[in-house]
Amino acid sequence: MPRTITVVSQKGGVGKTTTAVNLAASLCLAGRRVLLVDLDPQANASSGVGVDGIDRGSASPAEAPDRRYLSALLAGESLAPFVVDTPFEGLSVLPSSPEASELEIVHDLQRAPSESLRSPFSQAAERFDFVLIDCPPSLSGLPTVALHLSDSVVIPIQCEYYAMEGLSQILPIVNKLQNSTNRDLRIEGLLLTMFSEDLDLSHDVVDQVREFFETLAFESVIPRDVVLAEAASHGRPVVEYDPTSRGAWAYVELAREVLRSG
Ligand code: ATP
Ligand code: MG
Repeated sequence: MPRTITVVSQKGGVGKTTTAVNLAASLCLAGRRVLLVDLDPQANASSGVGVDGIDRGSASPAEAPDRRYLSALLAGESLAPFVVDTPFEGLSVLPSSPEASELEIVHDLQRAPSESLRSPFSQAAERFDFVLIDCPPSLSGLPTVALHLSDSVVIPIQCEYYAMEGLSQILPIVNKLQNSTNRDLRIEGLLLTMFSEDLDLSHDVVDQVREFFETLAFESVIPRDVVLAEAASHGRPVVEYDPTSRGAWAYVELAREVLRSG
């Protein structure tokens, strides 16, 4: 059984997609097979690993790949046919579906019993060691569905003003699931992102998070490194685009931590 980890936060631009893509690739470097699931209609995780976002290709509808897998999920059909292998060894992706922005389907998925979603999902995931789910910046809709299907969550926290603001909403949701439909859900870790060594504010946020949340925070801290943005714009994980960059090292360290914990 693969370990399913959802990267979630309702705050936009905190590094969810960068983390999903680069943690996934770093786990592959350690010899694991990883399925990256892109649940965000923005399709940034898909394009981050070189798979075209749904609205970008010039293919005519007849040629466009069928990515309407959320209806398949609802119908209890296997998602395996929708998985695309990437050029990066060990890494496959379930690209963003056009249905991710269709309210009715998202609504139906939210109401579906999680057991009925687990089976089509696990059929797609069975040949992998890890499943990493990238979510849109929200705590309702698809992120809730993802949380039902997950073993653990990674919550990125940008080293910025109001960094911890969102946690007061996310943590109760995780807690509620732990007490109801997903009793085994764990917090994999709070991940400090976009840390700037020369900014006092960055150090303050790290200190505060460690003080309030103690062991919940990962030891690894992701530095602000423009190479991470460049790698994404080239559709490649940073460990491939610039393996000696600080950003790459940080995600490799994070992968080690994740591997140690489970
Ligand atoms: P959204 O909520 O819109 O999905 P997100 O939480 O997924 O956003 P990302 O897309 O990962 O956030 O990051 C937002 C922007 O910041 C992107 O342009 C990304 O390339 C850049 N970025 C992410 N992490 C870092 C970092 N550690 N250093 C520098 N730039 C970064
Ligand atoms: Mg994103």
